Amino acid sequence: MSSVVRTRYAPSPTGYIHIGNLRSALYEYLIARVNGGKFILRIEDTDQERYIEGAVDVIYRTLKICGMKHDEGPDIGGPYGPYVQSERKNLYLPYAEELVRNGHAYYCFCSKERLESLQNEYKERGEVFRYDRHCLGLSEEEVKRKLEAGEPYVIRQKMPTEGTTTFHDVVYGEITVDNSELEDQILIKSDGYPTYNFANVIDDHLMHITHVVRGCEYLSSTPKYNLLYQAFGWEIPTYVHLPLIVKPDGSKISKRKGDATFEDLLAEGYLVEAIINYLALLGWSPDSNQEIFSLAELEKIFSIERISKSPSVFDMAKLRWFNGEYIRAMSLEDFHKIALPWIKKGLEKDLPTLQIAKMIQPRTEVLSEIPEKLGFFNHLCEYDLELYTHKKMKTNLEISLNSLKAALPVLENLPDWNEKSIYDALTALTEQLQLKSGQMFWPIRIAVSGQLVTPGGAVEIAEVLGKEETIRRINIGIERLSAAV
Ligand code: GLU
Repeated sequence: MSSVVRTRYAPSPTGYIHIGNLRSALYEYLIARVNGGKFILRIEDTDQERYIEGAVDVIYRTLKICGMKHDEGPDIGGPYGPYVQSERKNLYLPYAEELVRNGHAYYCFCSKERLESLQNEYKERGEVFRYDRHCLGLSEEEVKRKLEAGEPYVIRQKMPTEGTTTFHDVVYGEITVDNSELEDQILIKSDGYPTYNFANVIDDHLMHITHVVRGCEYLSSTPKYNLLYQAFGWEIPTYVHLPLIVKPDGSKISKRKGDATFEDLLAEGYLVEAIINYLALLGWSPDSNQEIFSLAELEKIFSIERISKSPSVFDMAKLRWFNGEYIRAMSLEDFHKIALPWIKKGLEKDLPTLQIAKMIQPRTEVLSEIPEKLGFFNHLCEYDLELYTHKKMKTNLEISLNSLKAALPVLENLPDWNEKSIYDALTALTEQLQLKSGQMFWPIRIAVSGQLVTPGGAVEIAEVLGKEETIRRINIGIERLSAAV
């Protein structure tokens, strides 16, 4: 085995990045980096029926925005290319033929119809389908004749019928299966393409991959891969299978069931850094209580030994928390930049967006929730006057009316309209009237927003609304309260 650690991210271009898939990429990347090794990108597109336009670009883009720079790959080349399996198509058959010669594989000419009726027979008997090795009995001459006649064929791996296969996984430990349970899986399909099960072994070997890191759904196939390595006499890589990712109810996450992909999360306003941070902890834990990690930090401390085998729960609430933490850690300028499209989406008029950003930054967890929070800036809705009554603020309708009436001329006469001037003037007025601050600021907050929950306090909202609109809304409040008390 080469001494340099080499890992690979081997996505199939499906057009989107599943969360589990991105976690695999991250762990593969980190294992390479922490060991000073190489991180390789390989596109696994042998399933030509599933070809999707633009899907490979999604993969490049994802790695790029996540900051996971690959050292070798289709776009940048490398010593073991090509790095796209369809471009390696002709390379696999000779390996399969070598296995046929050595007695580890055989040609199968069974028609689709035969396999289907076989499948039905198994189904009727309530058994799991397993190819019946019909073609294993063909003589060498028969095989030759069929091949020369151009009959379509597949090549199947010939599994030992007795004994067991044992392999070691760094996370799951030693796993042993009875060989009799292994099906003679297809290595080369009738269209000449290798199956994933064959191509991944050939490619991992040819690309000198030292650590095969992937989801634990591949654990059950690993004995078959192991037998292939043995049949070729190749060194077996270190297997690192990652725990299942489940939802809080224990079910698997899946795009088909509407669970978010990486692209969905970005579109909803989750930050790349927060997603990466969260995914790093989804199956791995540091040896401290630290929770916030940059990619650069993870590149130094990640360790295979601390990957867990118990299923990891993907909890949106926790991801929201991480996202909020990242948002709060940003400079106002940076937050303003990323929040701007969302702020604009929520505004129907021209209001100072930097002030709005400043107001909402401490209270935002996900960017997509911004527009709905800003609705009251556009229109003051009919609101329930009872909002003015607030026990803790010690207000009722009467006190509120008096406060608004007193505040009105003070605000009207303010020469400068900014957070500080508004705050200072209202505080002075509160003292002068010997009120509790809530008795002044609560009624103003209700009058300018018309709602119980707002993304900012009375002063911040008034500043953003501007003098004229603030005064207009306070007048509305006075009018409505006067009619009620
Ligand atoms: N192409 C496989 C996938 O996208 C890769 C599995 C592996 O890493 O070996 O799931």
